[in-house]
Amino acid sequence: MTVNDGLHAPRELISVAEVRRHLGSRVDVGVGIEATGLALSDVAVPDGSLVALTGEVESISEGVVLTGLVAVPWQGSCRRCLEPVEGVFTVEVREVFETHPTDGETWPLTNDQIDVGPLLHDTALLALPLAPICSEGCAGPAPDRYPAGSVADDEHSEEPPRDPRWAALDGLDLDDTSTDSDG
Ligand SMILES: [Zn+2]
Repeated sequence: MTVNDGLHAPRELISVAEVRRHLGSRVDVGVGIEATGLALSDVAVPDGSLVALTGEVESISEGVVLTGLVAVPWQGSCRRCLEPVEGVFTVEVREVFETHPTDGETWPLTNDQIDVGPLLHDTALLALPLAPICSEGCAGPAPDRYPAGSVADDEHSEEPPRDPRWAALDGLDLDDTSTDSDG
């Protein structure tokens, strides 16, 4: 990872010492990361652009809850006409940071600080569209020669028969109500 001198580096760390003094108190936050290598095969957050979160931090007994909106700028190619497309996704987040985090569920809170870098990184990757199109009506590079949707789409309009085993599952109540003897 690069080491910034900090002057213009987006802030990734939020000090939560103040807000944690009073349970339930809140504070507005604005943080961000500079994107590097945030890319899928056909789309990417352009390197150097800002993935920014605006929201608030609220203290809870074991840590803090971070809620807010993450703006994820992205660029790619239309999967139909291959023209460049770009946009900004806005993703809602609500994440818990704890002094004793649960792996895969909550994030660490250490030294009265939370690091939103990994969260913003993951959020940006998940927000990227797998198959971007320049517009809903995009007909592709040569619609006169290759009209969209007219080729073999209507050949089999019926859905394939369902596996009867899935039908059996439909009737099941999958609530986990089994009671273990929790000692
Ligand atoms: Zn297009």
